[in-house]
Amino acid sequence: MKIVAVLYPCPEDPTTVDSRDGAPQQLLGCADNALGLQDFVEGQGHELVVTTDREGGELEENLGDAEVLITTPFWPVYVTREMMDRAPNLKLMLLAGVGSDNMDLAAAADKNITIAEQTGSNITSVAEHSVMQILTLVRNYMPAYKDVVNGGWNIGEIARRSHDLEDKTVGLVGMGRIGQKTAMRLRPFDVRMLYYDVTKLNTIDEYTLGLRYADIDDMIPLCDVISIHAPLTPVTRSLFNRERLFDMKRGAHIVNTARGAIVDRDALVEALEEGHLGGYAGDVWDSQPAPSDHPWRTMPNHAMTPHVSGTSLEAQARYAEGVRRCLQAYFNGEPIDRDRIIVEGGEIMSLSYKYAYEEA
Ligand code: NAD
Repeated sequence: MKIVAVLYPCPEDPTTVDSRDGAPQQLLGCADNALGLQDFVEGQGHELVVTTDREGGELEENLGDAEVLITTPFWPVYVTREMMDRAPNLKLMLLAGVGSDNMDLAAAADKNITIAEQTGSNITSVAEHSVMQILTLVRNYMPAYKDVVNGGWNIGEIARRSHDLEDKTVGLVGMGRIGQKTAMRLRPFDVRMLYYDVTKLNTIDEYTLGLRYADIDDMIPLCDVISIHAPLTPVTRSLFNRERLFDMKRGAHIVNTARGAIVDRDALVEALEEGHLGGYAGDVWDSQPAPSDHPWRTMPNHAMTPHVSGTSLEAQARYAEGVRRCLQAYFNGEPIDRDRIIVEGGEIMSLSYKYAYEEA
């Protein structure tokens, strides 16, 4: 069987070091290293084609007889219904990461293509990045860093926008795996935490995590910081529209490591340019890779990164292992772990996506 994997390009030097013993190792997630899958796939008598082409080129040349397509959110292929039409043998799409919104889930269900992702593979990685970006904004780190690099010593200019996080109100939107880990990481900062999710946690979990539930529109005006951890679905697309952005407290910050399209692109730029919002950070863009003239690259008071939070070296090892396990199950004709399944048997199985698609 032919398996096609579309992965991000390797840097010039793809060697790195093991975080525990400093031994040299390879960057697993980039194309040349193919998630460490080449020998495993070939050893079982199958073919693995790896490309960095996200559309056209080698991807298109191999779609016609591909049975499995591996993609990643960090270098996404937008797998539309039309692309699936050109892949009549496609049975399985695996996401090396979490958040399968780059694939048309309804089309995959119609065509009986299974979709599975690497659930839980980068919870800590994203939670750490979110906390880092919250602190980056609240402490006004970016201008302070630039001041040093540029030879300056403008204490007052930096201090006038630099706060303590302690005693502030943080709102978390989406309280799944990453939302909960972010709450755990934030708790020692002595913040007040509110959260909104379509599913309310039980009282014990709320108590343990130090959270209070609130409706999204009640929560927004109360928050000094909002951190977004919900999937991109037809319901969450533009959830943070102009009205909600301008409902936030003046000077408040938003961190979004979930998906770029959850926040209205142009309304955000307006809110930052008018000084209504104090800052915005995250690592997800609509679309990716972000074009060089994407306005979020140049808007005021941002601390954006490319989509890297969920692909730390440790996360890569976990999602590469997850993809290998999914493939092994598929080769053996066994079921893939239930909690990885997004679409199966002609149905959207993941509840977050299922209800949102039904509502749309
Ligand atoms: P999860 O499924 O464990 O949690 C998602 C939570 O969002 C669930 O509790 C769900 O009920 C909630 N939700 C669904 N629809 C909602 C809505 N309309 N409003 C509010 N909450 C809603 O997933 P997770 O592992 O916590 O990941 C969350 C999202 O983060 C992913 O879907 C993905 O888009 C994104 N993510 C980004 C990176 C990255 O590298 N930046 C990595 C992993 C995941």
